[in-house]
Amino acid sequence: MPTVRFTRNHVAGGTYDRISQPDKPHGWRDMNKAKRIAIFERLKEATPKPETELQYQTPFELLIAVILSAQATDVSVNLATKKLFAAANNPEALRDLGIRRLKSFIKSIGLFNTKAENILKTCQILIDEHSGLVPKDRPSLEALSGVGRKTANVILNTAFGEPTIAVDTHIFRISNRINLAPGKNVREVEDRLMRVVPNDYKQGAHHWLILHGRYVCVARKPRCGACVIEDLCEFKDKTEYE
Ligand code: SF4
Repeated sequence: MPTVRFTRNHVAGGTYDRISQPDKPHGWRDMNKAKRIAIFERLKEATPKPETELQYQTPFELLIAVILSAQATDVSVNLATKKLFAAANNPEALRDLGIRRLKSFIKSIGLFNTKAENILKTCQILIDEHSGLVPKDRPSLEALSGVGRKTANVILNTAFGEPTIAVDTHIFRISNRINLAPGKNVREVEDRLMRVVPNDYKQGAHHWLILHGRYVCVARKPRCGACVIEDLCEFKDKTEYE
């Protein structure tokens, strides 16, 4: 039997009891499977068809919106893309806008200079290497400018229906806070979620968890009193806040 030691650790979202077990990543005590299934059943019941709050019509529009959404709100991205996509919503048209016009559409969004350059490079790669279409495989997506693992996961999941789970700040916080899939960094949380989220719920997990983190299990003061998974959650410092 491995030696088990209890320590206290501070990670995003709160303080947690930790069990040191050399045969488990970070030594966390796993949430049991029945509870994980119940959590996703409840989230699904509350939101049967979870969707991104980014507005888009095509995989290309979603790709551009997700590139723009880094460190920006979906609301600010939607305001900008409404006008941008009316002017150009395919790689050729967007490339032909040129850097100055493109920037004029997205200047209200943080990091717009870098994002504009990445978008134009991505458009050129799509034209040169993918016949103007958004590729459906991870290596090709991650080869695009401004596209990392998280963005590729969002595109694979939301545009192409793959059971990927992109870990953003909300999903990282919730996974640690409620002991669903604790990890020290986003890749650890993603890998653990892919292992522990029941297969039937993997495709929707990304959006269920994001929406839950955005509106209920918020960063500063989670709304435990209004939470549909309060009795299942393993967070130790629940609030009465509704
Ligand atoms: S009970 Fe509170 S901490 Fe747990 S998931 Fe709900 S809002 Fe988050």
